[in-house]
Amino acid sequence: MRFATRCIHGGPGPDPLTGAVNVPVYLTSTYRQEAIGRHKGYEYSRTGNPTRAALEQLIAGLEGGSRGLAFGSGLAALTTILLLFQAGDHLILGDDVYGGTFRLQDKVFRRFGLEATRVDTTRPEAVAAAFTPRTRAVLVESPTNPLLKISDLRALAELAHARDALLIVDNTFMTPYFQRPLELGADVVWHSATKYLGGHSDVVLGLVVARDPALGERLAFLQNAAGAVPGPLDCYLVIRGIATLPLRMQAHEAGARRVASYLAAHPRVRRVYYPGLPDHPGREVHERQATGYGGMIAFDVGSARAAERVVERVRLFYLAESLGGVESLIEVPSRMTHGSLPAEVREALGITDGLIRLSVGVEDPEDLVADLDQALAGI
Ligand SMILES: *Cc1c(COP(=O)(O)O)cnc(C)c1O
Repeated sequence: MRFATRCIHGGPGPDPLTGAVNVPVYLTSTYRQEAIGRHKGYEYSRTGNPTRAALEQLIAGLEGGSRGLAFGSGLAALTTILLLFQAGDHLILGDDVYGGTFRLQDKVFRRFGLEATRVDTTRPEAVAAAFTPRTRAVLVESPTNPLLKISDLRALAELAHARDALLIVDNTFMTPYFQRPLELGADVVWHSATKYLGGHSDVVLGLVVARDPALGERLAFLQNAAGAVPGPLDCYLVIRGIATLPLRMQAHEAGARRVASYLAAHPRVRRVYYPGLPDHPGREVHERQATGYGGMIAFDVGSARAAERVVERVRLFYLAESLGGVESLIEVPSRMTHGSLPAEVREALGITDGLIRLSVGVEDPEDLVADLDQALAGI
């Protein structure tokens, strides 16, 4: 089956009891046993729930891994991944990974002795230089947030494997529709399914897929041991979201391409960051490892004041954090999603006060361009 077909038929299929075409939402915490230890594969819903199992099977197939696991949020998924490591271990983190990823290592896991070095992972030689004898994993996103920087996932997998370390990729921005890191050599891929996989801004959920069955088993043990699992209704919502993932990703991308080329030609826009633009520095690497450019764009209007004017004047774009839903969102990273980074770190990364981030929804692109056009006229 091809990808779009698997988005619909990659789960367990119609309910054997009733023929219901949708997986039932199994609102149960426990399961009756016929005799001690004799049951139908489910004992307690932290350990396993059929609705969650349907989602886990679906995402494992879409990412091309051996085991899928669902969690209460993207960060709950990452927490469980980090429980693979122990005091004294060392990680290499992309220098502009999601702020919550950095915070979880820096403010939480560091207290338990898990150290990390932040590196510009667009430069494989810088990653190679950051390894220590205790390095156990490299954690990256490609493209990154908000500057859409591209890292060569194949090269990073080779580097990591040559040193007995794992490559762990946050694939939230691309989704398996556009990019499948496990096929490029990554060991673990994870998602904030809150974003494109859910796709409708109505659920918070995280997903993990492991390539190797033994690593998948270990993560399943940790999922049950730490217990950061989602409820069955949330799992159902993500299954429903994934059914239309190909349709939505095509529409997000078509809209983003139109908006990015409009912005690139606008006299008041200083710079546009979108991997699909010809001058994007990572474009060539991105095209080798992904089949599309996605729906996220950043652009610089030169000053905090101008950025504020634009986000106040737009009408269709909602001023909000998050991304990946059907509705278009706009935000100013320096004061919102990335506001917790120290000013000098933001500056070093290139997150200027005039930078605006867009999550392009699936509205008609011409309406989005018209909205931005009237907003930009006000600066
Ligand atoms: C939102 C996000 C996360 C965190 O996921 P939650 O579901 O909010 O916990 C992690 N990585 C990326 C790239 C994100 O956008």
